[in-house]
Amino acid sequence: MSTFKIAVLMLWCLACHSVWAQDKQLNIYSARHYPTDEALYGDFTHATGIKINRVDADDAGILARLKAEGTSSPADVILLVDASRLWRAEVDGLFLPIKSKVLEEAVPTQLHAKPSDNGGVAWFGLSTRARVVVFDKLKYSKADFDSYEKLADPKYKGQLCIRSGSHPYNLSLFGAMTEHLGAAKTEAWLKGLVDNMARSPKGGDTDQIKAVAAGECGVAVTNTYYLARMMRSTNPADKAATEKIGVVFPNQSNWGTHVNIAGGAVAKNAKNVDNAIKFLEYLVSPTAQNHFANGNNEWPVAKGVSFDNPALKSMNGGSFKSELIPISAVGMNQVKVQQMLDRVGFK
Ligand code: FE
Repeated sequence: MSTFKIAVLMLWCLACHSVWAQDKQLNIYSARHYPTDEALYGDFTHATGIKINRVDADDAGILARLKAEGTSSPADVILLVDASRLWRAEVDGLFLPIKSKVLEEAVPTQLHAKPSDNGGVAWFGLSTRARVVVFDKLKYSKADFDSYEKLADPKYKGQLCIRSGSHPYNLSLFGAMTEHLGAAKTEAWLKGLVDNMARSPKGGDTDQIKAVAAGECGVAVTNTYYLARMMRSTNPADKAATEKIGVVFPNQSNWGTHVNIAGGAVAKNAKNVDNAIKFLEYLVSPTAQNHFANGNNEWPVAKGVSFDNPALKSMNGGSFKSELIPISAVGMNQVKVQQMLDRVGFK
């Protein structure tokens, strides 16, 4: 073979290798800070041969980075952990709306973005977390807090522990309450929560659970996965703490308990769009959904997926009625909610 032919062949090989390498990879920006997700990524690569490159940051960091990178962003898939943040990113034009029968069939309508005019959907919920009430079993029973409204009852003055009102998990809950009750009643309810606080808001959800167990407050609000994590902890102190508290899924007799989502989207400037869609579709498969439930104690988003997580199963028998309002409406209410919080002095 002539030197020329060898050179051409080498160039061709390099070119096809780089095309292949591009085809077989996926760049993910993830706010899912859960070590148990590693197995999930590994299984996807094993099944498809698509290599995953991951950037981990918090939601705000990811959104800032996407904006700074603009059209040269290498991100293909974005994973965020709150409905109002997904909504914000959609409004800021950071996502590429996609059409996927698999995702649309698996994810309930209220847990994905509203389809755009051409039918594309900007983001999909991939797992849910319920925002529940935990209480001191020595003092109270489930009936005391079977609705979110009851948390504002003056008879619980000095009993409530809750994280900052401005945290996205609370902004989403309060945004949902605004949908259910209307703005005026929600603001009065928020004022009632402030009046009932045992202490000024501080710490995360786990800190509120521990404060109830320690007797610092009688009742608190938490996402279910923090509670499940403590129930399954190998630390005896965590387990002992959870034995002192009861859990109630509020509003089962009317609109259902507030759920938030962790969700995913294809990035606006994704270079590996097909792989990105394939990955999101994989995340709603029974295997991946089971993984969310068992690995990170989240509720599967896909309909009819069975899971085996003793902590989740111990809560309300492992199932509950969740609210059906569109989760995107919750995001839309966040500015209004923040103004209410400022007015009632909810830090
Ligand atoms: Fe969290």
